[in-house]
Amino acid sequence: MSIDSSEGIFLFQGSALVVSDETPDTGIANGQSPEIVHQVFKDSDHFEMPAVDAPVTIRGASLGKDTPIPAGWRTVSVRQGLSLLAAGTAVDGKGPIGRMLRAYHIAQWRQDSAFCGSCGTRNTDAPDELARLCPACGRREYPRISPAVITLILNDDGRALLAHNKKFADKVYSLVAGFNEAGESLESTVAREIREEVGLEVKDITYIASQPWPFPNSLMLGFTARYAGGEIHPDGIEIEDARWFTRDDLPNLPGSGSVSRYLINGWLSHQYD
Ligand SMILES: [Zn+2]
Repeated sequence: MSIDSSEGIFLFQGSALVVSDETPDTGIANGQSPEIVHQVFKDSDHFEMPAVDAPVTIRGASLGKDTPIPAGWRTVSVRQGLSLLAAGTAVDGKGPIGRMLRAYHIAQWRQDSAFCGSCGTRNTDAPDELARLCPACGRREYPRISPAVITLILNDDGRALLAHNKKFADKVYSLVAGFNEAGESLESTVAREIREEVGLEVKDITYIASQPWPFPNSLMLGFTARYAGGEIHPDGIEIEDARWFTRDDLPNLPGSGSVSRYLINGWLSHQYD
C-alpha cells in the first residue's frame, strides 16, 4: 500500500518511533498507514487512535511502555532517526524531519492529556483544531511549548565560548542553554543563564534562528551575544568546564541537526564574528 506522507500516522513508544519492517530507515519520517496502524494496534493498552478526520495533517499516537511490539514491526529511537536524517542540515520544522518531530511532540502531549485537567473526564481530540477537548466540561487543552534559549557567546578576539555540560558525551563542548522562566523576556533568560552557568556578563544579544525540540516539548531559540565582562566560572552543577576557543582549535562539537551546531557553523563561516 502506498502511503501519502500527508496522511501518515506516526506511532511512538516512549522515545522511539514504531515502524513496520517494510519501512526503510530513510522512510521513517513519512509516517505509517492509518488503516494498518488501526488494524494492528487498536486493542493495545493505552493506544488511542488519532481522529483521522480531524483537520490536522500530522497525527501522532503512543503505545504504552510495556506494549509488546508485534512481529513485522521495529522501533527506532527518535534521536537516532534525527541524526540519521539530519546529516548536514539544521532542523527548521519543515520537511520530513519537521513532520516527525511535530508528530513526536503531539504524541507525547496526547498521551499526557488523556484526562481533563479540570474535571478528570477522559479527553477526546477536538474536531476543529489541534486541541484536546473534554466532552463533560468543554475545557480545551493545547500542546505545551516550553521556550528555551541557546547562545553563542563571542568576544572581541575572534573566540567563542563553548562549555562542557555534565550531560554531554565525553569531551563534547557546546553552547550555554536554559529554559525561559515565567515573567522573563528571552533576552533576560539569555543573560541570566550565562551569568548562572559560566559567570559572564553579555551585551548585544541577537536572535538568529529557532528549532522545535520535542524532548519533550521545547522550542529552542538561538542567539548570539557579545562578551561584556567577568571571569569564566563554571557553575559545577550543569557546566563542568567552559573556555574560549578559536576557529582553528576546536573541541568535539555537537552533532548536526541541532541549533547549537547551526550557530557554531555560522560562526565558523564568519556569518558573525
Ligand atoms: Zn472536564
